[in-house]
Amino acid sequence: MVAAVGGFFFIRHYSTEHAESTAIAHTDFIAGSILPDELRRSDFAAPVRGARLRQLDRLSHHEFLTEGILRVKLYGPNGQVVYSSDHSLIGSRPVESGEVTRALHGESLGDVTQLNAEGGTGSNKTVLESYVPVRLGGGRPVGVFELYADYGPIASDARSIFLPLAAGLAAVLLGLYLSFFPILKRVTRTLRRQVQEIEHKAYHDSLTDLPNRTLFEDRVERGVLEANARGTRLAVMLVDLDRFKDVNDSLGHHSGDRLLKAIAEDLPAQMRRDDTVARLGGDEFGILALDISDTSAVLALAEKVQAVLANPRMIDGIELGVDASIGIALFPDHGDDVETLIRRADVAMYRSKETHGAALYESEHDNHSPARLTLVAELHRAISDRELIVNYQPQCDPASGELVGVEALVRWQHPERGLLMPEEFIPLAEHTGLIRALTSHVLDVSLRQCREWQGEGLTVAVAVNVSGRDLLDPQFPEEVESLLERYNVNPSQLELEITENTALTELPRARATLARLNQLGVSLAIDDFGTGNSSLAYIRRLPVRVLKIDRSFVMHMMDNEEDRAIVHSTIDLAHSLGLRVVAEGVESAECNSILAELRCDLAQGFYFGKAMAADDLARFSHSAAAPGHRM
Ligand code: C2E
Ligand code: MG
Ligand code: MG
Repeated sequence: MVAAVGGFFFIRHYSTEHAESTAIAHTDFIAGSILPDELRRSDFAAPVRGARLRQLDRLSHHEFLTEGILRVKLYGPNGQVVYSSDHSLIGSRPVESGEVTRALHGESLGDVTQLNAEGGTGSNKTVLESYVPVRLGGGRPVGVFELYADYGPIASDARSIFLPLAAGLAAVLLGLYLSFFPILKRVTRTLRRQVQEIEHKAYHDSLTDLPNRTLFEDRVERGVLEANARGTRLAVMLVDLDRFKDVNDSLGHHSGDRLLKAIAEDLPAQMRRDDTVARLGGDEFGILALDISDTSAVLALAEKVQAVLANPRMIDGIELGVDASIGIALFPDHGDDVETLIRRADVAMYRSKETHGAALYESEHDNHSPARLTLVAELHRAISDRELIVNYQPQCDPASGELVGVEALVRWQHPERGLLMPEEFIPLAEHTGLIRALTSHVLDVSLRQCREWQGEGLTVAVAVNVSGRDLLDPQFPEEVESLLERYNVNPSQLELEITENTALTELPRARATLARLNQLGVSLAIDDFGTGNSSLAYIRRLPVRVLKIDRSFVMHMMDNEEDRAIVHSTIDLAHSLGLRVVAEGVESAECNSILAELRCDLAQGFYFGKAMAADDLARFSHSAAAPGHRM
């Protein structure tokens, strides 16, 4: 377009110039061919008068004032008009003397002007004036010859050059445009598509084609702005598939990918059109749900998501359903920017992994929240200031009711918050590494107590709960050994309990520590057995001596056939592997007598007694024979 306009201007300029220079050349021709023969030097000396004037008039009319020439003039060397076909101008000087001076110096030039602007009698016609030097017999110019030509014919001359040239250029451009147009269109379309593809790839996950983390964060940001403006609430949910690694490991990556794709198709169908389901990485999905009315609505939505995921789908000939942990953070309740909302949904997701249900963010589960940070600092202090109390729960022979051992259970006597139960601070201690110091403290207190009881004639075994972190510390067995020595307690009197889930995840890495503890003669118990996914075959490979059946099976054994069958077969199987069995959660005499029948080795529960202070346990042991009376 610019080139076309430029082209037209060029042609116009060129054609006008051409017409003007033709006019100047004409004047030049007259000055060179006719004037030297007809003029004399004296004609330029002063204004021409009398007979000479009539002679020059005749010359003008014959030779110069032909078609289109409106006036002629002669200037003397001093710039005065010595002759003009308009007599009123003879003797005058030009309004602008620049052109005359330049022509006197030998230059031929032209200018477009109005005829009457130059004085004299004449219409307001547009004229082209050409000034040329007059030389008589060679040498320097003796004067200047000026000729006024009607500009009308010159302009139409210019047009007659301009129009065909312009039409030609237009035709060429149109031809080029028409022949390039389809190519141009194709190239533009391809480019546009490629840009769109690149953009799509940058914001979507390649496997599932769901929005990726970048786009998800972008949508959350926009959602927050909108919700803020409209005063509504939104939810950011993080969904993590449980044991997805197992699918990959056992069925191969191909099946894992197909499962993810199937989920990517099913999940968005459960959401509203404006909501977003994104894949944030591996087996983690993000959901942005807009316009959430209250927490129950978002929990219902999370349940729906869990149900969809659990729904079995055929993948490579196998029916696969998955469990998922879901962490939820709400705007404005839990944060008002993308980063906080996503981080807090993540904190809630870890909580969800523990509770196996969708979890809403709560500041006390957040290691980074101010409330949590205060609690960490306080727990630190509590361990050294001995605010931690150890209580002891009896473990008895179900047949005789005899007290055989105790489980050490920690409590925190918080100066402001009162007595805190382990659930309220053990997970915090485990997440922050404080658990090592806590375990050392409980071990120290329990073994010292064990020694004290022994001095009073009460010989009981003591079971202490330990965490994965303790067993991963290679110094741990030495610490246990030196405490046993310090308090002179027989290693066979100490039992270390570790939960079934910790056993599954940490024990393979803690083999050396376990072997060392086993060598010392300390026994290892698997706690809460039945709540995890381990098998007895797996446990048999570890140096484990005791199995504690989780209270959830024991407590309902009397009215639930299935639970009773589980307890029964677990006791039988454990015995066949040479393991001792402790049943937790024994709350009634009936429960205890069933366990006695099943030949369970030990029973622990409220039927015998809750966890109690050391002094109370000594009293308890004195009235050992009839457990029912102790409640
Ligand atoms: P656990 O090791 O399975 O301890 C048994 C829990 O069951 C205790 O709760 C106990 O009070 C409760 N319990 C005992 N008998 C009955 C019963 O008949 N019915 C019912 N409903 N419950 C019964 P507690 O003391 O709140 O401890 C909870 C958990 O905290 C423990 O579960 C253990 O995993 C952890 N824990 C306690 N002390 C420590 C410790 O010093 N170190 C570590 N790492 N964990 C500890
Ligand atoms: Mg325990
Ligand atoms: Mg337990």
